[in-house]
Amino acid sequence: MTDFRTAIVTGSTSGIGLAVAHALAEAGHAVMLNGFGDPVEIDRLRAQIEAETGAPVGYHDADMSRPDEIVDLVDATEAQFGRIDILVNNAGIQTVAPIEEFPVDRYDQIIAVNMSAAWHACRLTFAGMKAQRWGRVINIASAHGLVASPCKSAYVMAKHGLVGLTKALALEGAEHEITVNAICPGYVMTPLVEKQIPETAAARGMTEEEVIRDVLLAAQHTRSFVRPGQIGALAAYLCTAAASQITGAALPIDGGWTAH
Ligand code: NAD
Repeated sequence: MTDFRTAIVTGSTSGIGLAVAHALAEAGHAVMLNGFGDPVEIDRLRAQIEAETGAPVGYHDADMSRPDEIVDLVDATEAQFGRIDILVNNAGIQTVAPIEEFPVDRYDQIIAVNMSAAWHACRLTFAGMKAQRWGRVINIASAHGLVASPCKSAYVMAKHGLVGLTKALALEGAEHEITVNAICPGYVMTPLVEKQIPETAAARGMTEEEVIRDVLLAAQHTRSFVRPGQIGALAAYLCTAAASQITGAALPIDGGWTAH
């Protein structure tokens, strides 16, 4: 069978997901984009990736917090591309607040989007991957899937859960040529991080400059942000034959954050 596959990348209208989608398309894989945003801008992005890479690129607007819409995303991808070989569970949101002030609706959303959505998407695509005896699941977890920071209780909980799902499904997929891995990035300058700088400043009584220096890059020993394209390159590598024995791993790409 050809090395060119079909991928779903959730939350790929921005940031890391967009870079992963681009890297997979560059490797020749068809890609179904997903995520929120202005429909005109999303269609421009979709057409741009298609033009730059030559790979077919679709888009589905499923809200990943809603299991019924995840079913629609999977059905639409199968209808458009005929199969699903690669699933990148990337959609994610963040709220920074001490637990006693943490908004309950945000807790529910973070668990739904960052963790439960991945479970549902795997639930709906695993049978197809087993039947075709090839699959790649890549969960975009976080350094916060391995270690914690204060004021991020829901996010840390969801990302640790995502790493647990990675291990469990690696065992279920292992004899079916399905690998399941988590990528655990440190800080990447995307809209998600830009938004939490003022939130962290407020939660911790710091200036925004202090948050960047003393919170974000203090943890990251390279003292620089991870670039989205570096995560895209790792995801594309995990989809190659060379990576077929890497499964159940939680791979940090975090400038040494979790090394100490
Ligand atoms: P981002 O805000 O730039 O992008 C998030 C994407 O998810 C967007 O496309 C958005 O539309 C989509 N999304 C949000 N809610 C959704 C929903 N309910 N349904 C469908 N799509 C939805 O964020 P990012 O920094 O690129 O984050 C991507 C992933 O990487 C997240 O899971 C995040 O936790 C993880 N991550 C980010 C960093 C970082 O420093 N930026 C570090 C570690 C892990």
